[in-house]
Amino acid sequence: MTTATDAAPATRSFEADVAKLLHLMVHSVYSDKDVFLRELISNAADACEKLRYEGLSDPALLGDGAAPAITVTLDAEGRRLSIEDNGIGMDEGEMVEALGTIARSGTKAFMDRIAAAQDGEGSQLIGQFGVGFYSAFMVADRIEVLSHRAGSDAAARWESDGLGTYTVGPVDPAEAPARGTRVTLHLKEEAADYTQAAKVERTIKTQSGHAPVPIFIRDTPEAEPRQIADGAALWTRPKSEISADDYAEFYRSNAGQFDAPALTLHYRAEGRHEYTVLAFVPETKPFDLFDPERSGRMKLYVRRVFITDEAEILPRYLRFVRGLVDSADLPLNVSREMIQQSSVLSAIQKGVTNRLLSELEKLAENEPERFLAIWDNFGAVIKEGLYEDFQRREQLLGLARFRTTASGDGWRSLKDYAAGLKDNQTAIYYAVGTDLDRLASSPQLEGFRARGIEVLLLSDQVDSFWVTGGADHDGKPFKSVTQGQADLSLIPLPDNAAAPTEASDEVGRFITFVKDTLGEAVSDVRASNRLTESAACLVAPEHGMDRQLEKLLAGAGRLPSAAKPVLELNPHHALIDSLSRLDDGDAGLREDAAHLLFDEARIADGELPADPRAFSARLGRILARVSG
Ligand code: ADP
Ligand code: MG
Repeated sequence: MTTATDAAPATRSFEADVAKLLHLMVHSVYSDKDVFLRELISNAADACEKLRYEGLSDPALLGDGAAPAITVTLDAEGRRLSIEDNGIGMDEGEMVEALGTIARSGTKAFMDRIAAAQDGEGSQLIGQFGVGFYSAFMVADRIEVLSHRAGSDAAARWESDGLGTYTVGPVDPAEAPARGTRVTLHLKEEAADYTQAAKVERTIKTQSGHAPVPIFIRDTPEAEPRQIADGAALWTRPKSEISADDYAEFYRSNAGQFDAPALTLHYRAEGRHEYTVLAFVPETKPFDLFDPERSGRMKLYVRRVFITDEAEILPRYLRFVRGLVDSADLPLNVSREMIQQSSVLSAIQKGVTNRLLSELEKLAENEPERFLAIWDNFGAVIKEGLYEDFQRREQLLGLARFRTTASGDGWRSLKDYAAGLKDNQTAIYYAVGTDLDRLASSPQLEGFRARGIEVLLLSDQVDSFWVTGGADHDGKPFKSVTQGQADLSLIPLPDNAAAPTEASDEVGRFITFVKDTLGEAVSDVRASNRLTESAACLVAPEHGMDRQLEKLLAGAGRLPSAAKPVLELNPHHALIDSLSRLDDGDAGLREDAAHLLFDEARIADGELPADPRAFSARLGRILARVSG
């Protein structure tokens, strides 16, 4: 039988992803190496909070009951820095799991980004993907972790030079902390200044000064520890005592962010339920915002004890908000599983969501610039609420800002839109697609432009979903410019525009000819009143689905096949006019023209010609004719 101490430590290889990550970390992330301290301290604080939480149901884990603490020890002579906590600790298996693998989605995305990152950008990415621990290899050429899992007799040791392998094995518990974890960095020569008290103290105070666990520093291995941060949870202090800088630092260290909060919300709810909320809207967009596995980032505390970050306090469409709720009336020993069903939690969810939305409304009203910066980053996420949260739909529509044919580089609200409605206009018109510029130049918009009718240009993926679900606003339906007969004829053209004349008989005959020629490829061909400059465009049949949405669904395999479009021709276009006056001797040319008009309309919609080979043959014949 082997005992804990005589088993040789096993050498293991890092999971391929970790090895690659370490390589990138060391070679790409040059500036702002300080962040490793924040990462290690945040891990130590997490470990103390986990112990606090597990100790609620299993008090034996708390052992001697020592107060949670993080101690940083400097050793200039040995060029070493250690960070020790008396938290939950790790056993051998947990070390392999936590320090040898990356069990997270998104890591690949992180690595691609960091490889492409400019100097200085890389450090901004650390911490968002749980790669925090490895950041210590920026400053250390060897890291040793000694840990003693709370409640266990055994201790374990992990060590690596970050070059592909690590060793892990049992260790004499006397060498490890009595409970918790000590991470010792053998610093690189150029990182020797991380043994200087002044530098380390300043860095910790700025980065982690508001951690929920007190932090001590020992200037030498022999020195007495002195406290440099008191572990008083920032959110429990009165607002009047907290500066904007305090909030920003807390946000950075608590959320693992490097930007500043664009909006800070700190309040105490009293009444039926008592809780404190400290929430931040980030200034920049995290790049895993649309990762389906990304969950909310609001932490739940009960009387200052961290319970879980999976309570989904805010709806998914507010998943960019960071922060915490500290409840005074949830029972402390509530299990994480039970929490989701708790009526207190649902009251909190409702209260925080309402408050956040009303804060955003206030900001939109009072400081539109600041609001628009937030909308620019997160509008596409908030719009998910338009179909996920029916009850708040009107409120969310009120917050929504749009690019439109009238917005230029700015944004328009539906209130702005309503103020510009034309006589007889009965719908809110939109065009939906993937590319804003192409949308803005699509031929379907021409007749709307000519009448000065504003059209929303919707280019976020979520737009197809909310706008087609029978949405309306203020009694006006949202209507696609590619749908059905445009009812534009009811809306007067401005006085200075020439009123369109009726399509001539010749054009009428030509339209019939095109329809016969295209046959099954289209469901109809007709004269258009939505075109003023282009000769042709495609629209959806009456009661048909929006063309872009249809393409999207067909592409995702959720529709058997797209319905046949309607080809609209501009009866007042010079080309249509001259084509319709060709005589029968030109039957071949007319036939080519019919197909080419259809292909041109497809191309304007971002599609390929129906039959690319036939398309080039036809184009060739026409070019040969005009040139020769
Ligand atoms: P994250 O903190 O986002 O999970 P890290 O890379 O910082 O990612 O840490 C990886 C894991 O290692 C942690 O989730 C935790 O399980 C474990 N760990 C790191 N430091 C400690 C510590 N001081 N005490 C206990 N566990 C730790
Ligand atoms: Mg961490």
